[in-house]
Formats: sequence, C-alpha cells, structure tokens
Amino acid sequence: EQDPRIPRIASSIRVVPDFPKKGIMFQDITTLLLDPKAFKDTVDLFVERYTGRDISVVAGVEARGFIFGPPIALAIGAKFIPLRKPRKLPGEVISENYVLEYGTDCLEMHIGAVQPGERALVVDDLIATGGTLCAAMSLLERAGAEVVECACVIELPELKGRERLNGKPLFILMESH
Ligand code: AMP
Repeated sequence: EQDPRIPRIASSIRVVPDFPKKGIMFQDITTLLLDPKAFKDTVDLFVERYTGRDISVVAGVEARGFIFGPPIALAIGAKFIPLRKPRKLPGEVISENYVLEYGTDCLEMHIGAVQPGERALVVDDLIATGGTLCAAMSLLERAGAEVVECACVIELPELKGRERLNGKPLFILMESH
C-alpha cells in the first residue's frame, strides 16, 4: 500500500494545462517546494530508499534534478554531479545527444567527476518519454559508473518512458495521467 506522505506530495504539485505549449499537462513542482513538509517528505522518501545502498554518486539532470538531487546526495553521503545543457560546464566534458518530440537536445558531464566502478543514482523531477534519463545514464556508463537506479517524483506512464531505460530500474513516487 501507498506511503501516507505521498498524497500530500501529489496534491502540492500544480498541473498547468497547455504549458509550455498546447496539449502538454505541465507538472509544476515549484508549488511542492512552497510546502516545506511536502518537500522534506519527498527528499526523505528517496533518502530512505537509497541509504545503505553503497551509492557514491547522485547525478541530477538540469534543471529540476538540481533541486531534488543535492539534498538526497548530502543525506546519503554521496557526491553530486550536475548533468547540464550544452556549453554550461567550463571543464572538459562528454556529451550525449537525445531526441525530443521536435528536434534534439544534449546533456553534458564533466570528465573526471566520476570514477570507473562508482555506483550512481540518476535523479530528475519527471519521466515522460525517457529520453532525458536515457542520455543521463549513457553519460555515467561511458565514464565507467554503474547506474543503480533512476529516481523521479512523477512518471507519465502513457508515454512509456520506462521502456526506454533498457531494463534499468526506475523508482517513482507517483504517476500522473
Ligand atoms: P523525457 O525526456 O521525455 O522523459 O522528458 C523529461 C524531462 O522533460 C524532464 O526533465 C522533465 O522535467 C521535463 N518534462 C517533460 N514533460 C513534462 C511535463 N508534462 N511536466 C513537467 N516537466 C516535463
């Protein structure tokens, strides 16, 4: 059965129809951040799951993975790695292109941020088509890390993003339809 903290987290997320364009039901987690209990419960649910799992890396996807990733990393004693949009990171990077509904996008990671054999968790706010998480996992795996799991607050199950993760486990707090 469901954790009693999840309904409060779910009701703190604002759904904005037709943003940023027609037909998208935008899941706005900024309203979750305005409720300190909901925000703490969100982080705690991930921390409870990942404590003691020998994870040394939490990688967060720009931009909303930068909100949930760092408090999880601090609580489980892991480093935090930002996976960024192109040309934001000043050091030497590896890049991974991925396909969006219209056009392509790209994520980058600093070379040397992770060592071969490290156990990593990938964090974002939401999985839709799964393209973003797939690119994030590729960056870590190309650097020799082992991705233990991906973690998101919300899954849009109709988009079947889970099927793009090559069997990698995905942990979510809630589905949105
Ligand atoms: P995808 O690569 O298709 O799985 O898309 C996931 C990324 O796009 C995440 O970083 C989300 O923050 C963002 N995203 C996609 N769809 C939505 C949505 N309906 N509401 C909020 N964010 C979304």
